Amino acid sequence: MEVVDMIEIKKPENGKLEATTEDVVAELRRRAAFVFVSHVKPDGDTLGAGLALGLALRAMGKRVYYFQQDPVPRNLRFLPDSDRVSRSLPADLPKDALWVFCDMSDTSRAGEYLPPLERRNILDIDHHLANSRFGALNYVLETECSTGTCVLHLLRALGAPITPQIATCLLTTIMTDTGGFVHSNTTADVFRVSAELMDLGADKDEITEKIFANKRFAATRLIGAALESARLERDGKYCWSVVDDAMLVKFEADGEDTEEIIQHLRAVEGVDVAALFKAYEGDVRVSLRSNGRVNVQSAAGRLGGGGHFRASGLTFAGSLDDAVAAVRAALVAEGL
Ligand code: 5GP
Ligand code: MN
Repeated sequence: MEVVDMIEIKKPENGKLEATTEDVVAELRRRAAFVFVSHVKPDGDTLGAGLALGLALRAMGKRVYYFQQDPVPRNLRFLPDSDRVSRSLPADLPKDALWVFCDMSDTSRAGEYLPPLERRNILDIDHHLANSRFGALNYVLETECSTGTCVLHLLRALGAPITPQIATCLLTTIMTDTGGFVHSNTTADVFRVSAELMDLGADKDEITEKIFANKRFAATRLIGAALESARLERDGKYCWSVVDDAMLVKFEADGEDTEEIIQHLRAVEGVDVAALFKAYEGDVRVSLRSNGRVNVQSAAGRLGGGGHFRASGLTFAGSLDDAVAAVRAALVAEGL
């Protein structure tokens, strides 16, 4: 499919730069068909947020589809309706279907297979810093821990019943984006909302087991290799490592097996910022994590990426060596 950027950043001609909960709810009621879009290399937030809102809209009799470039990761296949997620769309999709982008600062995060879209058909639900406000309606709540909790505000305003399935999707978004209630976005409200979701039937034990345990043996061995070759620089404040094609082949691992590595690099005593360079499948993708002293969202932004103050990422156009040098320079420029 052709990729057309018809979206003019920050200047909605036929929409709202900052939509209220009421604006969004009115639009959800008005439309009859929806396509939920999740970002490439999907995580529990982008998927859980869309699945939760989609489940509620289906219960209201609406047509709901899920569009995602990449397959659902193994550890998220327990999510209700995740088997409905696909790269293809029905031929009879109504022209006025609302495309709901969850958890992305830009449409480019949805990948290369998006059909051309008109802004008037786009709803942007997100909690990232520096969201580009690409929708007709932009529901961007930067203080929320996950896009799922933005969706929860909408479900309440809609008066939609929160079923155990919806509650599980929403608790997944929270547990994913707080790192299992560990990151600094874990406020007292996060615990209150999580308790409420458990009361509504969210299966916390299943989420813990499927997302935070249940790792393949290949992943464990890959983590070992990546940690063994980690480097410590800048007086012990910067820790980084690499996963490349040869390592994936050696351990019969894939990209989904790399997830946990960065946490170990960041957890080293004295480390302010950790970086993992994922140089495989023809790309150099970089994950950055900070303890809060250095803004890694700004650092990633210098190289075309983005994310949050303490967690960000980017895809580097160039060699691994150039990526290592450029990321180090961007971090130093941000005060590392
Ligand atoms: P991860 O390191 O887990 O891939 O990503 C960490 C955070 O950075 C996530 O919030 C993710 O959405 C964001 N992020 C990762 N890669 C990119 C990117 O290429 N562009 C933007 N804008 N954000 C990214
Ligand atoms: Mn998120």
